[in-house]
Amino acid sequence: MGAEASHRDLLLLGASGQVGRAICAHDQLAPRVAIADRTSVDLTEPASIRSAIRSARPRWIVNAAAYTNVELAEDEPERAFAANAVAPRVIAEEAQTVGAAVVHYSTDYVFDGKAREPYAESAATAPLSVYAASKLDGERGIAESCERHVTIRTSWVYSEHGKNFLKTVLRLALERDKLTIVDDETGVPTAAHELAAVTAVIVASLDDVAENDARWGLYHYAAAGATSRHAYAKDIVTQASVRGFPLLATPDSVIPVSSAAFPMKAERPGYSVLSTSKIENAFGIAPPPWQDSVGQVLERLKTEAAPEARHA
Ligand code: NDP
Repeated sequence: MGAEASHRDLLLLGASGQVGRAICAHDQLAPRVAIADRTSVDLTEPASIRSAIRSARPRWIVNAAAYTNVELAEDEPERAFAANAVAPRVIAEEAQTVGAAVVHYSTDYVFDGKAREPYAESAATAPLSVYAASKLDGERGIAESCERHVTIRTSWVYSEHGKNFLKTVLRLALERDKLTIVDDETGVPTAAHELAAVTAVIVASLDDVAENDARWGLYHYAAAGATSRHAYAKDIVTQASVRGFPLLATPDSVIPVSSAAFPMKAERPGYSVLSTSKIENAFGIAPPPWQDSVGQVLERLKTEAAPEARHA
């Protein structure tokens, strides 16, 4: 870490989101974090972004803020593009001006899902939805406007906070004895705490390096392995049951169904497994099996639920 590492020299956007909260909770990152929340920075107001960065003059900007409602984006393309495409470019321009480095996050949805082997960073993109197209534009804005940047594409993010697939499945399994879950989408569940840990490694590794270091650029990070939504839901039910959650559903009552049974406005890629060899080789990062973090997040949800259960 650099000499100034004890200062709050890492400006975090999106601190209330899944990844933002995990960054705030990370031992190595937390002491450096200065939060710019929605009251000071609105992604859809470029002037607010510019003034926050100019006054903070951070060493790092970590952009965990984004318009993440994939369905609603189909109806609100202007808002999605303002937050996911225009804002990252503005962030990167200001970072370049004040000499900050940027960490930004993007999505597996930039791919169309027609591949049958993990996507490398160099694979052709073909976004299927407004959200995906806006995020792809944002990646380009970052890459074109700031030399010292790392963009991390990731997939199926979940944590104990916010809205996500794991929490929805857990809630349904507590309420119902049968769940129907799509089995024709393959990807990799990735915990927000893994992304915070990866961000910490990248920040520490690149703290003092120049813009011509070969490690700046675009990376894929996801946990190890791959699964369908259906098998993921079964694992959540299995692991939650082992941990004593009073579920009505059982692993055998999680029924596979085609995504055609749940028509959505935004098309999702059928296959979006990301190859992580580039980030493994550049930073010595070893993604854990996706099931490990599912267990850890369920443990945290169990601990959080315990006091309520006692008072119920
Ligand atoms: P969340 O939806 O949990 O959090 C989004 C954050 O962005 C919140 O802090 C939210 O603030 C903030 N935000 C949204 N709109 C604005 C705005 N106009 N101005 C300022 N802040 C705003 O996101 P995640 O943590 O899940 O995602 C982090 C990153 O990972 C994003 O770039 C996302 O695209 C990417 N990603 C996410 C995946 C997923 O499955 N969730 C999958 C792949 C990539 P507030 O709380 O006030 O609304």
